[in-house]
Amino acid sequence: MLTGSNLVAGAWRTGAAHFTAYEAATGAALEPAFAQGTAADIADACAAAAAAQPAYAALPHTERAAFLRLVAAKIDALGETLTQRAMLESGLPEARLNGERGRTVGQLRLFAEEVENGGWQGLRIDHAIPDRAPLPKPDLRMRKVPLGPVAVFGASNFPLAFSVAGGDTASALAAGCCVVVKGHPAHPGTSELVAGAILAAIRESGLPEGVFSLVNGTENALGEALVKDPRITAVGFTGSRAGGIALMGHAAARPVPIPVYAEMSSVNPVVLMPARLEEAAEALGAAYVESLSLGAGQFCTNPGILLALGGEATQRFIAAAAAALESVPAQTMLTAGIRSAYAKGIETIAGQGATLVGTGADGSAACGRAHVFTVSGADFRANPAFGHEVFGPSSIIVTCADMDELAAILEGMEGQLTATLHMAPADYNAARALMPILEGLAGRIIANAWPTGVEVTHAMVHGGPFPATSDGRSTSVGTLAIDRFLRPVSYQDIPAALLPKVLLDGPSAVLRRVDGAYEA
Ligand code: NAP
Repeated sequence: MLTGSNLVAGAWRTGAAHFTAYEAATGAALEPAFAQGTAADIADACAAAAAAQPAYAALPHTERAAFLRLVAAKIDALGETLTQRAMLESGLPEARLNGERGRTVGQLRLFAEEVENGGWQGLRIDHAIPDRAPLPKPDLRMRKVPLGPVAVFGASNFPLAFSVAGGDTASALAAGCCVVVKGHPAHPGTSELVAGAILAAIRESGLPEGVFSLVNGTENALGEALVKDPRITAVGFTGSRAGGIALMGHAAARPVPIPVYAEMSSVNPVVLMPARLEEAAEALGAAYVESLSLGAGQFCTNPGILLALGGEATQRFIAAAAAALESVPAQTMLTAGIRSAYAKGIETIAGQGATLVGTGADGSAACGRAHVFTVSGADFRANPAFGHEVFGPSSIIVTCADMDELAAILEGMEGQLTATLHMAPADYNAARALMPILEGLAGRIIANAWPTGVEVTHAMVHGGPFPATSDGRSTSVGTLAIDRFLRPVSYQDIPAALLPKVLLDGPSAVLRRVDGAYEA
């Protein structure tokens, strides 16, 4: 039933120029041909989003929440059709994509609850003190309001959970922002199916059709036009460091600059503390390989760098990892471009003299072969190439001379999404000394687990200092993600008749900070 059209404010548009979607596993062209979005599509989508913005922002929160739940239900109803198309376009296995669909609709439902909860508005009331000397204190009341239309770039590695109706879209819609998505060119059919589900929910909810648009294309110029459109107020992006930096440049160079929330590059260091390694080297070696090869390593939280002290336990760990690698199958990678970037990354590491620990099975030209290397701490510090993300199933084990060298390596690293400590109680003192370094390094610190699992909850941070993200004060996963698309407004001495209802005196269904104290 796919048409290959772009969705511009409720209208499915075909175009003069087309691009092809490919089956990830075989490279075969898939039907139909997809219309290349144009500058006019972008401009019309943004104009419609701006026109719909006041009505969407003013929607009662119960209705906004109901809309998010309806989007979730419509996506769920796509069932196998969605899974099968996503499998073809991404090469990801069925179980993973069914799980990802569950996560996608779960995120939408969590944001629906969050909208109803209302805490995200950050309500504050500071009552006036008219007789304060020497000057009276004014009445000040604050709430957060939606920024305006948001541009979202679909991610290649999460065709559902970080694409058309993924975390960025869900959090922007929850914040009360209309959304224009630039679809990822690797999965335009999947994108069209999800866009159709959102459109059905918009119509059934009686919302303006400009609330959501999807424009597909393969040219950088399309995304550039979207970021530069004066009606766009913020950008959500997951992808390459080069792409994220380019979009940050476009956003900063606008006559009215806007924030870009780009999630880009992370090697997610994992530290094996000595006592834990001593007691569980073999089990850790097998679990490490399982984590780094999950989903052909195409996770932003892939454990790309592992740090341990040299010694007998580390050798046991390395031997266990080498043995586990032997049973890692070759897995289809998302796109030919990602596959060739992975091959180049592996060549670079090998070319810089890293020792190969082992590889997984070799496969077709579409597949990525798992690789694990090892280098000394001194070599790692001398060669910045070892610290760069290689997107795919590869990782480097760094054997350090002592804890001082290990700490110095962590201190010298770029910003990360995650940092992990595997430790036993006997390691806690040494680990405590690392904690301030890890807090400065990463958005999430993990104990005794692997970084590839990302829970969608209230306390999750999927963010981190540059280049993990463009703005380490934010998260793109979990309910706190809504904050990226909000702006605080203070109302000074505004008469009650003009105040938003949530800021009036009296009982409140939402937790508020009144004269400094939190109260409901
Ligand atoms: P990408 O090349 O950054 O593309 C992501 C999206 O951004 C696409 O829609 C792309 O569209 C657009 N884009 C990229 N550069 C742009 C520019 N200069 N101006 C305007 N739009 C731009 O990412 P990808 O295709 O997913 O994969 C490429 C590499 O990204 C991977 O090999 C990997 O290294 C990295 N990656 C990292 C993560 C992570 O989570 N850390 C996730 C996915 C990918 P067009 O190409 O159509 O313009």
